[in-house]
Amino acid sequence: MIEKSGRVGPPSLVARVLELVAAGQATSRTELAALLGAAPSTISAAVGQLVARGLIAEDGTQSSTGGRPRKVLRLGGTDGFAVAADVGGRHARIGVIRPGGQLTEATTVPFTIADGPQVALPRLADTLEALAETQGLDLLRGVGVSLPGPVDATAGMVTLPSRMPGWNEFPVVRWLEDRFGLPAVIENDANCMAVGEHAVRPPEHRQSITVKIGSAIGAGIIVDGRLYRGATGSAGDITHGRIDGAVDRPCSCGNTGCLETVASGAALVRELGAHRPDVASLEDVVRLATESDPEATGVVRRAGRYLGMVLAANVNFFNPDAVYLGGMVSTLESFVAAVRSQLYEGCHPLVTKHLVIERASLGADAGLVGAGQFALQRALERTVAAMSSPRPYR
Ligand SMILES: [Zn+2]
Repeated sequence: MIEKSGRVGPPSLVARVLELVAAGQATSRTELAALLGAAPSTISAAVGQLVARGLIAEDGTQSSTGGRPRKVLRLGGTDGFAVAADVGGRHARIGVIRPGGQLTEATTVPFTIADGPQVALPRLADTLEALAETQGLDLLRGVGVSLPGPVDATAGMVTLPSRMPGWNEFPVVRWLEDRFGLPAVIENDANCMAVGEHAVRPPEHRQSITVKIGSAIGAGIIVDGRLYRGATGSAGDITHGRIDGAVDRPCSCGNTGCLETVASGAALVRELGAHRPDVASLEDVVRLATESDPEATGVVRRAGRYLGMVLAANVNFFNPDAVYLGGMVSTLESFVAAVRSQLYEGCHPLVTKHLVIERASLGADAGLVGAGQFALQRALERTVAAMSSPRPYR
């Protein structure tokens, strides 16, 4: 039945219910009540409103524990999808993402970030639209883009990026929304990776740190199942943490002795490439370390220990369920092992007792999945906002 008022209760709770069901983090009213710390009657009212609008569907019953059968909640109209891109310097990974983090049609396309947004964005949009057409444009719900720079998610633009010439304060989100006529979202690559990895991990892991170690280092923080941005959007920026052994090395931030100068992919290339003619790129370092080249393995292990030192302080402070490592350097087992042993050494045993320290299970696609998740979330937020508008008919 249609409510008498156009309002549907506290929008934040309704939005959270929708978000948890969409992400596959909750499939029943009982789980929602536990996760949100709300009374069952409050949850039932919110679910009822969402079911009435077709945003949540109830599927048969499930009695895995042998107890009383219960209704299983899922997102209504799950044939809806987002298209997303995880943008790098010379390539973009693109794909179709559905609620719960399912990725299909993932492929790598040329993308030159140095062309600037006026040239690069229209090309990317054409490619994403062609991808969406293969799935049915009428089911496209939103567009998400992961960018390798500092993102002001509220303003929908990149601010003062060091590796994205021409992108500073270009209104990327407004451009995308005008182009597609749909909700769009941009996020920093490490945040996308954190959200993507979180979406496919067990729902009980609600506190996690995901570190992306590629050419640069960045981290995304998930608190109580949601991305934590901090006061000014810089949360997780561990790359400028101080390292004792790196006092003299100048960093891109103007300071010296930062983690970035000794543990990033760029630092590894610089260190090994200084006297090895066979090393010109991060791919070279990774290949040599994979082949157990002693020198390459040595610098990779040392980088892992440095990252572990900076991470240990954060892990002690934050006490997460999990630390996930993504980005090209994290594909090296010697690196992951060094981070792990440094965390065990540098953290209180209570903190590491159940701590999961693993490579990102989505590998190179974690950021892509996260960008798609952000787009689906934004689309849902718009829907919920429209529901709680004082005007019952739009
Ligand atoms: Zn720095």
